[in-house]
Amino acid sequence: MDSDDAVKVDAVVVGGGPGGLAAALSMARAGLETVLIERGEYAGSKNVGGLFYGTVLNSLIPNAFEQAPIERPVSRRSIAYLGPGTHMTVDFGAEAWSQPPYNNTYIVNRSQFDRWLAKQAEEAGATLLEGMVVDDLLYEGNNGTRKVAGVCLRGGEVFHADVVVLAEGANCLVTEKARKALSLRSGRHEQDYAVGVKEIIGLPRATIEERFHLEPHEGIALDFVGVPFEGLVGGGFIYTAKEAIHIGAVAKIETIVKSGRNPNDILDAFKRHPGIRSYLQGGELLEYSAHMLPEGGYHALGELTADGLMIVGDAAGLLNMSLYKEGTNHAMESGRCAGEAAAEAKAAGDFSKAGLAGYERRLQEGVVLSDLKKYTEVPDILSGAPGLFSLYPEKVTKLLVDFFTVTPEPKSVIQKRAIRTFLDDLPKWRFLKDVFRARKML
Ligand SMILES: Cc1cc2nc3c(=O)[nH]c(=O)nc-3n(C[C@H](O)[C@H](O)[C@H](O)COP(=O)(O)OP(=O)(O)OC[C@H]3O[C@@H](n4cnc5c(N)ncnc54)[C@H](O)[C@@H]3O)c2cc1C
Repeated sequence: MDSDDAVKVDAVVVGGGPGGLAAALSMARAGLETVLIERGEYAGSKNVGGLFYGTVLNSLIPNAFEQAPIERPVSRRSIAYLGPGTHMTVDFGAEAWSQPPYNNTYIVNRSQFDRWLAKQAEEAGATLLEGMVVDDLLYEGNNGTRKVAGVCLRGGEVFHADVVVLAEGANCLVTEKARKALSLRSGRHEQDYAVGVKEIIGLPRATIEERFHLEPHEGIALDFVGVPFEGLVGGGFIYTAKEAIHIGAVAKIETIVKSGRNPNDILDAFKRHPGIRSYLQGGELLEYSAHMLPEGGYHALGELTADGLMIVGDAAGLLNMSLYKEGTNHAMESGRCAGEAAAEAKAAGDFSKAGLAGYERRLQEGVVLSDLKKYTEVPDILSGAPGLFSLYPEKVTKLLVDFFTVTPEPKSVIQKRAIRTFLDDLPKWRFLKDVFRARKML
């Protein structure tokens, strides 16, 4: 940094989540003088954890899973339908998923994981300023030639920088201001948001392994849709950590508002379901968090660069809301692409939009945009087929329960009645159409 009053660095990163940390790590490694500003007490302090795909992490830090604070690898997954007092689960896994590199899928506690990643960025040479909030960007020039020249912190302090990487997450107030100030092109559709609430519930390690049928080095990720989410486009999840389980619910804001329910009541309804409550018995609430998720997908992506600026992670809307729910890995990949583009710009001495073009080019060539393009239709499918979330789970679980209900009647009578009841008030064409379209979520 200069010793003058105004601090000047090569790069400032706003936000110490996985996107910002991957950007800071890449830029510091490439020799850029990098400052990362995080408003939380420490990186990760505002997040609780979840499923983490580690492909980008393992490419940034080889065999990272050996050092990173991983709770458990995901050796099994399941997808379950919850009916009223009924449930149906498809549970699958592979022995290979219990061995390194564990199918690159882990359960992490983000407050520990982000802190660890922040340490890696610091060791690479980045400076972390925690407990400080960026209020706005610093601009130079007028409308047509306006460029980003740094950040303004709450309290009046200013950092000058050749490039700013915005990695604020979904609740991105500075990014929104920057979009307006720089007249950045919006996406074809408006961004669409969901709200997610999560709890970490402490349980003894042996109880978790017994309840979920796990070996000590195994973990499971369970996804749910069904009646607790009635009237919503949303679902729930449970992930097993070492000595806790992560439980949460995510639903589109628009449908939460229409249903008149609030996110905590939705999570409570999920936790009370008979297919769920036995998992939680005797548990102690350790942490709670509520966050937004950008679910608009590919068509909601706007312009991601300007002179002296790149936008990454959830702030850019890069979350993949298919069955994979891949936000963290995409945030890290975009952070890495931004970091590499900044290094190129530094070498060329050109931090203009053209000089930073390597960022969007890398995104286009890599998995992030390839996957977002593949799942372009997912936001419309989710909104257009509410039956997928409650009516069909209810009907399908009832069909199975009726089919296997034991009475003195002959099996043919029981089975015919089960099928008739299933078909009775099922909107058949709609059902076939929704199931056919839902294949695009895979
Ligand atoms: C309930 C829920 C469940 C989820 N489950 C999964 C999952 O299982 N798997 C998965 O891959 N993804 C999941 N996600 C999504 C995932 O959390 C995000 O995609 C990911 O965290 C995005 O990373 P990011 O770095 O872009 O933003 P974030 O992780 O949100 O980090 C942004 C950081 O910026 C800081 N910040 C914000 N504004 C400022 C400012 N003005 N000044 C300074 N600092 C600022 C914040 O404090 C925060 O630390 C889930 C999200 C929710 C809400």
